[in-house]
Amino acid sequence: MAFELPKLGYAYTALEPYIDARTMEIHYTKHHEAYTTNLNAAIAGSELEKEPIENILAKASTLSPSIRNNSGGYYNHNLFWKIMVPDHGGEPKGELANAINRNFGSFENFKKEFSAAAATRFGSGWAWLVKSKNGLKVFSTPNQDNPLMDVVEFKGIPILGLDVWEHAYYLLYQNRRPDYITAFWNVIDWDEVAARFKE
Ligand code: MN
Repeated sequence: MAFELPKLGYAYTALEPYIDARTMEIHYTKHHEAYTTNLNAAIAGSELEKEPIENILAKASTLSPSIRNNSGGYYNHNLFWKIMVPDHGGEPKGELANAINRNFGSFENFKKEFSAAAATRFGSGWAWLVKSKNGLKVFSTPNQDNPLMDVVEFKGIPILGLDVWEHAYYLLYQNRRPDYITAFWNVIDWDEVAARFKE
């Protein structure tokens, strides 16, 4: 079974003005499509073809750079499209809000910490909010690595992720990554993040 590019739950224009339609279209139809195609090519004929993506990520240290990068790229973008929604923003509620307050002191503190992780990731990578047995944690990873991989310093379940590769923002924001990070808070689907937190 080959991995499939999942359907986007909204139009390319849906996240404007925070994420522009041209970036969305290229990001989804070119970048995410390429990670999917390249992952399928890299695992073709191997035992990995029968495994769920999470199992492949969990043994990243044993895999070729091509499988590591493309399995991460496949999974990370699946998550990224899901945790965004038009005109949502706002703040988390319920248990997730309580956990954020407990771990970071306040939503504002969490926002600062996550934004700093996204802003200071040198080069290409992702900022994450991760659920682990030791609570919630913010950190960033290089390239297409993610917290499900056995190669990262802090492992857990990613419940929120922000792509800070230049391909995610350069057409609209050029070198202004902080402006893109600020805009991201307007399109986060906190209901989806809360559902991932509960799982
Ligand atoms: Mn990307």
